[in-house]
Amino acid sequence: MDSTLRDGEQTAGVSFNPKEKESIAFALYDAGIRRIEMASACASDQDFDAVKNTTSSLEDTGCKNVVECLSFILRPHIDWITDAGAACANLLVKSSTDHIAQLKGKNPDDHIQDVLEITDYAKENNLCVNAYLEHFSYGIQHSKEYVYKLIENLSKAKIHRIMLADTMGLFSPQQTKEHIQALTQKYPKVHFDIHAHNDYGLATANTLAGIKYGCQGAHVTVNGIGERAGNASLETVAVSLRDFFGIETIDENKLMTLSKLTKTLSGAKIEANHPIVGKNSHIHKAGVHTHGALKGLYTNPLLEKNRFNKRVSYDLGKLSGKASVFVELEKMGVKNPDPEIVAQLVTEIKILSEKKNIITTNDLLLLYLQKTNKDTSGYRLKKVDMRKIYTNTQTSTQAEVTLKIKGVSSTIKAVGDGGFDAIANAIKKITGANLKLKDYHVSIPPGDGTSSLVDTAIDWQHNKKTLKTRGIHTDQDIAATYAMLKAINQINVLKRFEKSNTKK
Ligand SMILES: [Zn+2]
Repeated sequence: MDSTLRDGEQTAGVSFNPKEKESIAFALYDAGIRRIEMASACASDQDFDAVKNTTSSLEDTGCKNVVECLSFILRPHIDWITDAGAACANLLVKSSTDHIAQLKGKNPDDHIQDVLEITDYAKENNLCVNAYLEHFSYGIQHSKEYVYKLIENLSKAKIHRIMLADTMGLFSPQQTKEHIQALTQKYPKVHFDIHAHNDYGLATANTLAGIKYGCQGAHVTVNGIGERAGNASLETVAVSLRDFFGIETIDENKLMTLSKLTKTLSGAKIEANHPIVGKNSHIHKAGVHTHGALKGLYTNPLLEKNRFNKRVSYDLGKLSGKASVFVELEKMGVKNPDPEIVAQLVTEIKILSEKKNIITTNDLLLLYLQKTNKDTSGYRLKKVDMRKIYTNTQTSTQAEVTLKIKGVSSTIKAVGDGGFDAIANAIKKITGANLKLKDYHVSIPPGDGTSSLVDTAIDWQHNKKTLKTRGIHTDQDIAATYAMLKAINQINVLKRFEKSNTKK
């Protein structure tokens, strides 16, 4: 099961809008993943829309039972999941008596009873029910008797899957083996999943140990995004399962697209030395090693660069027009691409190819998503004009920026110390946004050397919160502008949600 859109979204500063969640869900589906955890129940109206749109689009293609949601032991959560059309409720169950003691007025037996009751209720709603044993790694070491009693009850209640969560990343592979082997031997008919976190850098190793000793499912996130040191990563788990155990899980040719898409939409960076999908993971540098690599020594033929489709993308300048851009976007999971945006893209691609800039198919989805903001009903960039102002003592830049929101355009001029500074000042005047730039990184998107796009990753400070956003464009200032608008739109969505919650 992939949990990029639920557990991955727990990464500090990361938040996906519905369109982004849908795109990642489709990319996961396209790569062959058939269990996608998309949200926590009742988290936001935006998540509700994302789950609802994805499940209905998947059903149109004849596919049911793909989307799962996390649920507390609360009836409104089950109702939310049912109304959103998801197939599975993943109940969050306490697996240690210490944690139950924090629940007011509940003892372990009460908690088990509550879980069984909510299971019945979810089944009445025709949901498939899985149970997350939250803090399983702690519980099995401190309240073993209770954990076994809980599992006994869950298996009798015919819970579909029991999901063993190493929530704080406490286990070593040896401990994972010891506890999971004991459970799978005692309950051979129960389907167990392993859910590993990477606090010791052991998430992939623990996941492999879980599978080797009887788990039938593994939880992952793309690029390993997640709270603290993150989760087991889709790419390392899928590739290791294939190479070490001969288990095929996904279409490896889709890994780079998934990784890049998630990186761009989450804003979370991938280190260059990240296995499989990192920029440097297939580059040899040290003299002797390179020499050997050229002769075919020292290389791992199983992890050959070409295996992961790191280069397969082609020049979009060759596409004839709207129809081909439509088809390319649909291939990448965009349902009914917006004709207005497609027309803009076609014009831009033509202008760029006349300037001998190459935009590849890999870049198309990122460019498209960046232009769609309708789900957040947020600000969209319409136009930027810049000119230098020279005086006797200094040079500055003036930007005239036009933004559109809900069909209304506003244009404002501002001056700044350089292009982006001027644009940012104009945007602040239009939107009234109060946000500070904390960290700014510029790079060329990984995966294809032909790209003429610039990828700008910015960390922002808004009140006490940090946000990470990215923008992509051939011009660095415009890329940063997209990143800024994304941050402002996210903050506004959050404000609206908090307001509607306080009203309730
Ligand atoms: Zn987790």
